[in-house]
Amino acid sequence: MVFLNGEFIPKEQAQVSVMDRGFLFGDGVYEVIPVYSGKIFRLDEHLERLQNSLNSVQINNPYSPQQWREILHELLSFSSESSQSLYLQISRGADVSRKHSFDSLSPTVFIESSPLTPKTKAELEIGYRAMSQPDFRWQRCDIKSTSLLANIMYSQQAKQNQVEEVILHRDQLITEGATSNVFIVKDNVLFTHPTGDHILSGITRDLVLESAKHCHLSINESALTLTELLSADEVWISSSTREVMPIVQVDNQLINNGVIGKYWPQVYDYYQGLKHV
Ligand code: PLP
Repeated sequence: MVFLNGEFIPKEQAQVSVMDRGFLFGDGVYEVIPVYSGKIFRLDEHLERLQNSLNSVQINNPYSPQQWREILHELLSFSSESSQSLYLQISRGADVSRKHSFDSLSPTVFIESSPLTPKTKAELEIGYRAMSQPDFRWQRCDIKSTSLLANIMYSQQAKQNQVEEVILHRDQLITEGATSNVFIVKDNVLFTHPTGDHILSGITRDLVLESAKHCHLSINESALTLTELLSADEVWISSSTREVMPIVQVDNQLINNGVIGKYWPQVYDYYQGLKHV
């Protein structure tokens, strides 16, 4: 079952107009929210970021936080999976004719839930490979927009090169991954790009910072260069579905001789604990 514009219906029956601006322009915003043991993880934070994205593009939020909560729980009740990933998208809605500027429309709301199986610690401990690329995205990466052409191009490159993620740099400074935030440990300090319009402010990013603090890792929210990343002690990526994942090779360079560092297991363990509080 999916939720579409106020109704819970089978996915095969869900249809939207070809004039929907989400279809024509990618004119919409979205969220991906993990659910563990039936509990929606950090829902308030996701709803707050959704509101910020909507405000930035002048789409009215059709529901109050309480209404969102009720809709999401009702959708979850159709599935017996205890861990799920909720995808919710709001497009500006359908217009009578195609034009770039917009009038006030009725937003199209689509939500689906799919099973979520986070990788185990044993799987993650092997470490993953990434590649670097110049960040050619726009200047409003803080908006969780459904216009994802650049991210799609990077993700396809990652797939073709058999790496987990493309790590992006703007003017040589690491911004984030194509679908994740990036962390660098060097000399017992954790670095990550500050929030602002060059990165998406990840909900997991905040949780990784919270976990790192608990593990007595100093935090410096500033951007490092690609050269600094390549000589780091540890590199991690984070996202709601991948949680916190160690990267042990970027391009042809091994990180920490290709083995995970000492902080990742501690931060991982603390993060796992946060899921059950
Ligand atoms: N940055 C980008 C570009 C992303 O697409 C994502 C997640 O999809 C993130 C960061 C991580 O955000 P979150 O931790 O809220 O999933």
